[in-house]
Amino acid sequence: MRLVLLGPPGAGKGTQAAQLAHRFGIPQISTGDILREHVQENTMLGVKARTFMDRGEYVPDDVVVEMVMERMQEPDAEKGFILDGFPRTVPQAEALEVALAEAGRPLSAVLKFSIADDMAVRRLTARWTCPNCKRTYNLEFKPPAQEGICDECGYVLERRADDDELTVRRRIEVYREQTASLERFYRDRGYLREVDAQAREADVTDRTMAILADIKD
Ligand SMILES: [Zn+2]
Repeated sequence: MRLVLLGPPGAGKGTQAAQLAHRFGIPQISTGDILREHVQENTMLGVKARTFMDRGEYVPDDVVVEMVMERMQEPDAEKGFILDGFPRTVPQAEALEVALAEAGRPLSAVLKFSIADDMAVRRLTARWTCPNCKRTYNLEFKPPAQEGICDECGYVLERRADDDELTVRRRIEVYREQTASLERFYRDRGYLREVDAQAREADVTDRTMAILADIKD
C-alpha cells in the first residue's frame, strides 16, 4: 500500500496512520523527520536544503521529493509507505506524482478522513496533557481514571495552550483553505477515498481497511 493521508485537525489522522502502518507492515514517512536527518548527517541533499533554510527560505519541492524517494527505496518500504504531512500543495503533489511514476510505484490511494467541524472542535478542546510524562488524554474518548490527574505519574494535567475553541476553529479553517485544491487534484485523478472519521478509533480503522480491501495494490 502506498498511501497519502489527509484530514483536518481532530480527525484522528495520526492514530489511523499508526494503525495502518502496523497492519500493512509499512513505514510512516514524515518529511519533517527525514529533512532533519539529512541536515544533521550533512548528506548532499541535506547540505542543499540547508542553504535555503539558512536564508530563511522554504526547501524547494524537488529537494524534498528527492529525499522522500530516497527514503522509499529503503528495505522497510518495500511493501509500501504512508506519507505523513506531505504533499501539502498541488505543485508538491505534481512533483511527487512524476517521481513515483518514474519509479514505477504510483500511489494506491489518498485517504481523506472527514469530520464535521463541531465534532473536531469537541475532540480537540477535550485534550489534556501531562506536563511531566507527556501522556495525552481526551475527556471524551480516553479520560484519566481520576479527573485531572495523570494515570502514569500523578501530575496535574494541563490543557494545551492552543486548544481553546477559537484557536481550534481557526486551525481547521486554515487546513481547509490549504488542502482544498490538493483534494481536488487527487479527486480528479481518481485517488481520493473518503473515510467517515466520526466514530471510535477502532471503527474508523475498520472502515479504512474495508475501503482499502477494494483497492488494487
Ligand atoms: Zn504523567
